Amino acid sequence: MLYSGSAFRLEKTGEGFHKIIFDLKDQSANVFNAVALTELGEVLAVLQKENLKGLLFTSGKPSGFVFGADVTEFLGHFKKSEAQMVEWINSINRVFNGLEDLACPKVALINGFSLGGGFEIALTMDYRLGTPKATVGLPETKLGIMPGWGGTVRLSRLIGADFAIEWATMAKYVKAEEALKLGALDGIVDEKELEASGITLLQRAVQGELPWKDRVQAKKSPLKLDKIESIMSFEGAKAMAMGMSANYPAPLKVIEVIQQGARLTRDEALKLEAQAFAFCAKTKTAECLVQVFLGDQYLKKVAKNHTQSTAPVKHGAVLGAGIMGGGIAYQSASTGTPVLMKDIKPEQLDLGMNEATKLLTKEVEKKKLTPEKMGKVLAKITPTLSYGDFSQTDFVIEAVVENTKVKQAVLSEVEGLIGPDKILSSNTSTISITELAKSLKRPENFCGVHFFNPVHRMPLVEIIRGEKTSKETISSAVQYAVQMGKTPIVVNDCAGFLVNRILFPYFNGFIHLLRDGVDFQKIDKVMEKFGWPMGPAYLLDVVGIDTGHHASSIMAKAFPDRMSFGEKTILEIMYEAKRFGQKNGLGFYEYEIDKKGKPVKKVNPKVYDLITPFVKNKIEISDEEIIMRMMLPMIIESSRCLEDKIVETATEVDMGLLLGLGFPPFRAGALKYADSIGLSQLKKFSESYTRIGKLYEFTDYMNQMLKENKTYY
Ligand code: NAD
Repeated sequence: MLYSGSAFRLEKTGEGFHKIIFDLKDQSANVFNAVALTELGEVLAVLQKENLKGLLFTSGKPSGFVFGADVTEFLGHFKKSEAQMVEWINSINRVFNGLEDLACPKVALINGFSLGGGFEIALTMDYRLGTPKATVGLPETKLGIMPGWGGTVRLSRLIGADFAIEWATMAKYVKAEEALKLGALDGIVDEKELEASGITLLQRAVQGELPWKDRVQAKKSPLKLDKIESIMSFEGAKAMAMGMSANYPAPLKVIEVIQQGARLTRDEALKLEAQAFAFCAKTKTAECLVQVFLGDQYLKKVAKNHTQSTAPVKHGAVLGAGIMGGGIAYQSASTGTPVLMKDIKPEQLDLGMNEATKLLTKEVEKKKLTPEKMGKVLAKITPTLSYGDFSQTDFVIEAVVENTKVKQAVLSEVEGLIGPDKILSSNTSTISITELAKSLKRPENFCGVHFFNPVHRMPLVEIIRGEKTSKETISSAVQYAVQMGKTPIVVNDCAGFLVNRILFPYFNGFIHLLRDGVDFQKIDKVMEKFGWPMGPAYLLDVVGIDTGHHASSIMAKAFPDRMSFGEKTILEIMYEAKRFGQKNGLGFYEYEIDKKGKPVKKVNPKVYDLITPFVKNKIEISDEEIIMRMMLPMIIESSRCLEDKIVETATEVDMGLLLGLGFPPFRAGALKYADSIGLSQLKKFSESYTRIGKLYEFTDYMNQMLKENKTYY
């Protein structure tokens, strides 16, 4: 053994080749953390003193090659100044270049994921062999940064500028076959043969059969002319990236760096890349996207803690085959858990099955599913009008009409039919879980499981803990949600739970703006530019104005100090005029179904006949103020949810908004957004809106935070 550290070992093979083994101690996967980077420098120093014939770079982990740089260290790096960051990058590039410049042929053996920095290290080798499960890529732009350890420089020289741009700007994960086709891999071999194949390759290189020196030279030189695609391809890609560059600047930087670096040598191009990396790393977008990544990891860890000693759900059941029940049954079946779907109307059961069939057919058309597999998934849903088979289910989700009496009746009926240790839950969006539990004999076995519509697409499930819900029940609900491929967040019972409780103050901000004579189209435009997938008027149309109106009255009752109006709101007016939104083609906007069956929105000025009488003032307002008047109520309610311990952490609040509402990821959630603006700035806005009332008033907790100069993160 020539070197042995906690990340790297350096050995010699029987054939006399050197072998670097990346095997990070106490971790299931390899990532480049600070220790690994330091050790790699030490390994290089040893190699530079050795007499080298050939070098293998391998992973000691069966889980894959190298997943990239250690994201948990990123926020620390981002605190450096741009100059310090460039220096840090340069120090890593010196090691990577040092490996590339070793005077012997070099092969990377890629046995799985080789992403970001994990692909960049493989690119320093002259050849790359992969197993069939090798997956390569430069997904850094997903985190708001760009490749910084030579990725843009080496990949463009290897596969051409246009493909390098495509891979890096789209943060693509590229499977072995495609990587081979484009030249990013030199061969695909079985895992068992990987090392032997690497050695054969080295032997051939040593014997002069393979032009490995030309490969090194090509990577160090400006891009070959045939690999610089026409200037048009750069400009086309740039135009696309510019469309989103205000909020996501990294893709444009990637294109610029590849374009400018194409005419430079490796070392010159690396300098450009390092500078562009430092620029991206200092953006708010990068900080927020990394926060979102860490938030996602945190939720996974919390879910894992809940389910550690929980048995999988073997057989589920849904009550109600409507929009939600049908969606949940589909989701359960398509992720492998058989499910009973019970309704009182046969036509609803048909509707539920047809919906599932439609979704699966799309998968088959996209070749993501075979017709046989589709048959198997459908067979996992058992539509039924009776309770006959309920004794075999271990988790029941009630999704019947939103009516307390009906729900309580149905829940107690089912409680008598399932085993005493089985779990009962409700998908209610507005009824208190503690209240529903009152009709039950075993309230400890009951909780809320709140899916979002459409179930197959929305990643979040709120798991609601009622006053009497047991820990085991929560764990089982978390388990079922994870089994269905969803991200669960456990929340304590309150009106609106977490997400809707925070959404409605935002809608109220919208209603107050309308009262002040601000046009709903303008508000939508501003909020969409801010980053929301749709503005509030459009969102209300999609949710359903009838649903919004109902929920808003419940929220007003629960939190009258800040969520009631004391007069008819525009939601009531629209509801009474039967403008229910997209579902009946009439809302703030009007909708026509296009050839593809998609609703297209347009404005009919007639809607202003309803809105105008509602207007009380006519104010002049800037875009910035519209944003504040929409966002501040959301921020304050987010803070209240933390203060009231609806969830435990700011991360859960923010991730709930991201996954449940589509909060702009580059802003990472309401509380992160509050931190980025600063509480003192927000306080100024808050004070200028006191005439509107409590909706804009800081809580005591926020005032205290302000005094102590605290942040949510
Ligand atoms: P829906 O009207 O589409 O479906 C309700 C179904 O329940 C109907 O098929 C009806 O026939 C059936 N049903 C009524 N009484 C029944 C009984 N006694 N036994 C069995 N089935 C019965 O409603 P939905 O939109 O699917 O909503 C269902 C639940 O999910 C509600 O509590 C709602 O608040 C909640 N929810 C809805 C949404 C949404 O966006 N639609 C989102 C989250 C939660």
